[in-house]
Amino acid sequence: MQTPADGEPLSSRQTAGNRKGAVLVTGGAGYIGSHILKAVEESGRAAVAFDDLSHGFQEACAWGEFVQGDIRDTPALIAAIERHEVVAVIHLAGLIEVGRSTVRPDLFWDQNVQGTASVVAAMRATGARRLVFSSSAAVYGADPRGRRSDLLAEDNPKDPASPYGDTKLAAERMIAAACAAFGLSAIALRYFNAAGADPSGRLGEAHHPETHLIPLTIQAALGRRGPLTVFGNDFETPDGTCLRDYIHVVDLAAAHVAALEATLEPGEFDAVNVGTGRGHSVFEVIAAVERALNRPVPRTIGPRRAGDPPSLVADPGRAAARLGWTPRSSGLDEIVASAARWHANPLYGEQGSGAPARPSVRQA
Ligand code: UDP
Repeated sequence: MQTPADGEPLSSRQTAGNRKGAVLVTGGAGYIGSHILKAVEESGRAAVAFDDLSHGFQEACAWGEFVQGDIRDTPALIAAIERHEVVAVIHLAGLIEVGRSTVRPDLFWDQNVQGTASVVAAMRATGARRLVFSSSAAVYGADPRGRRSDLLAEDNPKDPASPYGDTKLAAERMIAAACAAFGLSAIALRYFNAAGADPSGRLGEAHHPETHLIPLTIQAALGRRGPLTVFGNDFETPDGTCLRDYIHVVDLAAAHVAALEATLEPGEFDAVNVGTGRGHSVFEVIAAVERALNRPVPRTIGPRRAGDPPSLVADPGRAAARLGWTPRSSGLDEIVASAARWHANPLYGEQGSGAPARPSVRQA
């Protein structure tokens, strides 16, 4: 395969057919991964999804190629990288449910940390030199201040509140060390609350079980589940419910493309928040869903959920400076309207909630 020189900008590397170098997207069949496939292809690169389909849907890989495999299978990763002449990897595959990580931390260390070690090993063995890693605001842990003006910057103390956050921080540190030792370059994107759906209506959020606020609120409004439980209304926030920084998945996907193209020296690693700098409360999300659907959201007030900090809002400054990236579509009403359109007519992933299965939307 083509092996680019260390440090050569990705944009100057060409593969057969005169397209820019291909990108492997682990976890490409998932919610965020499927949106990234589209963004990568639209940037002029070939995208190759690598996914074991344990949580994702092959129908979600509507852009680019698809390879079924487990990231802990290093030879399978190497084969996919070589076959598709991959020059960069966007690594998302992993376990994401914070609650489950407290009862099965072993699985999270295996998939999120060992899995990342396998991805790094496959890159060392091939010509892929740029890594974009899916990290999380969970690396910061429970911020006790909880005031709207307190934005989380990248150099905030790291004190994860869950085994999930521990594994993301451990993987970041492993990647940083691998960059320094082996001449890779990498950016860890620390996601805040990804939400919304592609405006085409072909891609959207489908998790089983669903634990995220916006899809649960929409499903409650549509009568597809019982009332939404608001996890606590006694936080020290303006309306008593938690503040989160909701980022449109299309903006999040664009941040990955910006991170692929960012100028980094061989050996360099950086971590960048992907958020808007604005927090919205649970009650504000409920009101936005009621506006979008013109229906009430049945809800009850429940106790706080373990480990929920009152406020998680990004300082987005480094993303603008480092990646030249700012969100464009992340107003709360725009996010919720796009998610509501998807939930009205999902193309995959609703089997678990009783809706009819749809035919595959994968292009030939
Ligand atoms: N939340 C809620 N009820 C639910 C699910 C979530 O009140 O059924 C709240 C949760 O406490 C948090 C916010 O909604 O304050 C966002 O939660 P989500 O699980 O979507 O994302 P997280 O911030 O935990 O990553």
